[in-house]
Amino acid sequence: MAPTATANGSEKPVSSLSLKTNFVQIIDGKIGPTKETRHGINPATLEPKADVPIATEKDLDLAVEAAKRAFKVWSKYSYEDRRDAVLAFASALDSRRTEFRDLLVAEQGKPIPQADAETDAAIGWITGMANIALPEEIIEDNENRTVVARYTPIGVVGAIVPWNFPLLLATGKIAPALLTGNVIIVKPSPFTPYCGLKLVELAQSFFPPGVVQSLSGDDRLGPWLTSHPGIDKISFTGSTGTGKLVLQSASKTLKRVTLELGGNDPAIVFPDVDVDKVAEKICLNLKRIYIHESIYEEFRDALVKHVENYTLGDGSQQGVTHGPLQNSMQYERVKTFFADIEKQGWKVATGGKIDPSSGYFITPTIIDRPPEKSRIVVEEPFGPIVPLLSWKDEDDVIERANDTLMGLGASIWCNDTKKAERVGRELQAGTVWVNTHFDLSPLAPFGGHKESGIGTEWGINGLKGFCNVQTLFLNKKIVS
Ligand code: NAD
Repeated sequence: MAPTATANGSEKPVSSLSLKTNFVQIIDGKIGPTKETRHGINPATLEPKADVPIATEKDLDLAVEAAKRAFKVWSKYSYEDRRDAVLAFASALDSRRTEFRDLLVAEQGKPIPQADAETDAAIGWITGMANIALPEEIIEDNENRTVVARYTPIGVVGAIVPWNFPLLLATGKIAPALLTGNVIIVKPSPFTPYCGLKLVELAQSFFPPGVVQSLSGDDRLGPWLTSHPGIDKISFTGSTGTGKLVLQSASKTLKRVTLELGGNDPAIVFPDVDVDKVAEKICLNLKRIYIHESIYEEFRDALVKHVENYTLGDGSQQGVTHGPLQNSMQYERVKTFFADIEKQGWKVATGGKIDPSSGYFITPTIIDRPPEKSRIVVEEPFGPIVPLLSWKDEDDVIERANDTLMGLGASIWCNDTKKAERVGRELQAGTVWVNTHFDLSPLAPFGGHKESGIGTEWGINGLKGFCNVQTLFLNKKIVS
């Protein structure tokens, strides 16, 4: 349903926005002029996509100035008014969900069911977070004084988004930033700028000018954002290497940062599971799969059977279960792991060779018990090539699962849910799942331990991450 009322008092029909053409930056509520352009590539066909602007430093300065003006207005809106505007935005996104879904498939390469799930989550994350209350906390209240902790907005947020979830990770930053009274400049990945730019254009109907802006640039834009003195907080999702550069750059102006970084998620499979059912559920998004040695061969063969049933192809085609990698950089990186197969003498359970194709397609590949310290176990390939490892002792497998600099997610597959929970509590990861993987909720904090990140996003902790804490000591007696 398109909304009828908007936060800036105007009524702009969201149905007139074209999601197919004119990808523009929005600065101060208006289309920012663009001298230079670039374009993304459809990863399934390598065809060039529509042109997008290349932001200049001047664009960033203009956006920051507009953001500062907008902050003065937006931060004074009541929480309820901000929430109503954010919910109206979610409703508009919902009214255009299929078009956003198709835009996502075309720019990211993911198959329709996965794009459907991301689009629904993008909407659900806005509405979910809009319904979290962030009340002031009364720390003390007696006849002498009241002590109150309140959560106040930080100011101008720079949101830096990666290419793997361009829609969800953009709304997952926009919603909490705005709800808490901040203003935001969104920088999508140069590989996947399209959904992010249209999301911000759509948002203009619901927020005063300068509250939500977009900049689409090349590799220079991220460092400009993180070093700009007018930006108060960086919300970054991306690789650990880039996250360290962001932290370094942001430290010069003491910007607040939330870093959502890389992972090397282990799955631990216990011997009591239904092998076929669990093998079907374990997908190649996991990075290390530890299988109990008593079911190792059976489990490996079941996993191979399911992986060989994947239908690799252009995500826009019905029936495709797995799309291409998103970009040439990632494709070239994943190829180095395939080159290592022969060099390192790894045993391949399925896949192992990359077939020539029209796009960045990688044959899903399982490596059968490579050495524990090999690159494929230690690093995050970020592509469908996964090592299987075996274990027999619980303490030992916990130690091996934790023996990494990363700590994003982990899963345990076990019919004894008490045991699974006990093991889960031993794992050093921001999110631990039992008998599932990658379940997420807008109400639950998400973040990484160790080099997988700093801080969390989503849930009440996520909202607080966009806030300063102010403690008020309200003395009830006047000084006389
Ligand atoms: P990336 O680090 O290359 O880029 C992420 C974003 O940072 C892009 O918008 C990019 O333009 C920008 N950027 C690049 N250099 C920058 C710099 N010096 N300063 C500021 N910004 C800069 O990551 P990617 O390849 O787009 O994404 C994949 C990575 O993201 C993987 O490692 C994955 O694990 C991680 N990731 C983490 C989460 C999480 O929630 N923790 C979620 C999704 C992806």
